[in-house]
Amino acid sequence: MREARAPRSIIRSGISVKRWLEALPSVEALRPAICPICGEPGRPAGRGLGIRGHGRRDRQQRGPLVPGERPALVIVLVRRYLCRCGASMTVAPQETRSHRLYTASAIGWALALFGVARLSACAVRARTSPWKIMGKRADEGWATLRRWVTAVRTGRLFPSVRASPTDFTARQVAERAATTLAAYAPPTTPANEITARAFVGAALVW
Ligand SMILES: [Zn+2]
Repeated sequence: MREARAPRSIIRSGISVKRWLEALPSVEALRPAICPICGEPGRPAGRGLGIRGHGRRDRQQRGPLVPGERPALVIVLVRRYLCRCGASMTVAPQETRSHRLYTASAIGWALALFGVARLSACAVRARTSPWKIMGKRADEGWATLRRWVTAVRTGRLFPSVRASPTDFTARQVAERAATTLAAYAPPTTPANEITARAFVGAALVW
């Protein structure tokens, strides 16, 4: 049974994890323009604040911060806000997704390495996960990648990706997702590689 409490939302800012780590944006800079629950403006004209800062919280983020860079585990401080209506909001970097410890970019990157570059699951893990896995378990694929493919297949991850036919293999699902994500990368993206474009595009789509 769900506990009755005020609704919560994660709001993505337009700021990347990399920039966020360089300098934590101010309470004012990240204040939501409107409450997603009641529509109250964050800074209503001529009266007090509608949405107030409500502290900070640690959020773990995993994966490379730049395509091809060594995967990292970083802790970002996300900002919390409280609306007059009682709703609480967390404002996080652009790549942050609810219930995912890896950044959206890292997931898009991994799907492209697996589905387009056709790397083995172990090779994908080595380029995406901050942990080095040695020994026997290193040959067993990567459960996290399998979970992402399943989540894409069922529309729980990157729902903007067109649904795959049920007979698609994991690689085909990953390939379709990666090419869709890559299409969201702005034309100014300096990367020609589809893997790097999927990395950039994944941060921008839902
Ligand atoms: Zn509200």
